[in-house]
Amino acid sequence: MITTAQQLKELLASPKKIVITTHKGPDGDAMGSSLGLYLFLLQLGHKVQVITPNDYAPFLYWMPANDTVIKHDTDTKIAEEITEDADVIFLLDFSKLDRLFDYAAAVGNAQAIKVLIDHHQDPQLEIANLVFSDATSCSTAQLVYEIIDAIGMTDLINQDIAECLYVGIMTDTGSFKYASTTAKTHHIIAKLIKKGARNSKIHDLIYDHSSANRMKLLGYCLNDKLLLYPENNAAIISLTSKELKRFHFRKGDTEGFVNYALAIEGIKFATFIAEKDGMVKLSLRSKGNFKVNEIANKYFSGGGHINAAGGISKVSVNKTIKQLEGIIKEYKTELNNQN
Ligand code: 5GP
Ligand code: MN
Repeated sequence: MITTAQQLKELLASPKKIVITTHKGPDGDAMGSSLGLYLFLLQLGHKVQVITPNDYAPFLYWMPANDTVIKHDTDTKIAEEITEDADVIFLLDFSKLDRLFDYAAAVGNAQAIKVLIDHHQDPQLEIANLVFSDATSCSTAQLVYEIIDAIGMTDLINQDIAECLYVGIMTDTGSFKYASTTAKTHHIIAKLIKKGARNSKIHDLIYDHSSANRMKLLGYCLNDKLLLYPENNAAIISLTSKELKRFHFRKGDTEGFVNYALAIEGIKFATFIAEKDGMVKLSLRSKGNFKVNEIANKYFSGGGHINAAGGISKVSVNKTIKQLEGIIKEYKTELNNQN
């Protein structure tokens, strides 16, 4: 990391045209790391643009510089022109180019020097010239902080940057509770609070601004849509597009629902399935050493981390449930032998 950080410092020594991008359906870490890095690079005098493949949940709209973000799916032409013209492109919080979906070709074909900063396993190393990859890190935002530290520029972290990085670390650690949360994470969080991150306010803005519809949808999921497989310590929640419509679904409304299934005593493998944007999307979570990223990769063209992964199903919600029931049976030994 030290050598790569030095190379990055040299790359950033003169003003550059920079694009920062992140995965489709950006989450708190994707936006927190992207906007934090954006504000940092602006201070170094670069021309910077954050381009996301698409929009994200409204509970992230309060973040500093949110209104500067270009979305490739709605502003395709300008997004692709800026991408083609960039000297440097940062790839944040994803390890495989296909997670950019329709924006992947523009980034892949761009002549810019590419810098990958990410914490997913098995990065596609050929997509970037400089790689900062650490699958043990809790978040990309933590890596961004560590890189700024490694190049000796933490003095430039102001309140806005601190708040962006705080959001990334907080959301990807489940508010500092996942196993990926280390002493180092807490040390960095302490430094971000010292830089002015309003920790309590940020928790409120992210977690306690739900619409009534979202809470009703959560109630419906738990009361009517929870499938339990206690003999194999597994649970599934599913929603069709019709059900989402009934509860006036807005982007981000189902964020975190899968964790309620995982919070049930004994459950070690939980899946949330939702039919959105003409696709069936899966969120997989586990406790202990049951590797949901392997399940996501093997069956659902996806990936992620050991305890949190996602993917896509090409069949209906009902058929996806049946498929998962088969998977749960197939892995029953592992699911009954967990630490
Ligand atoms: P979520 O369930 O919150 O959408 O995603 C959980 C984790 O799985 C995140 O780390 C995310 O990056 C990863 N993930 C989600 N969907 C996909 C996907 O379609 N492909 C891959 N490779 N990873 C995914
Ligand atoms: Mn992340």
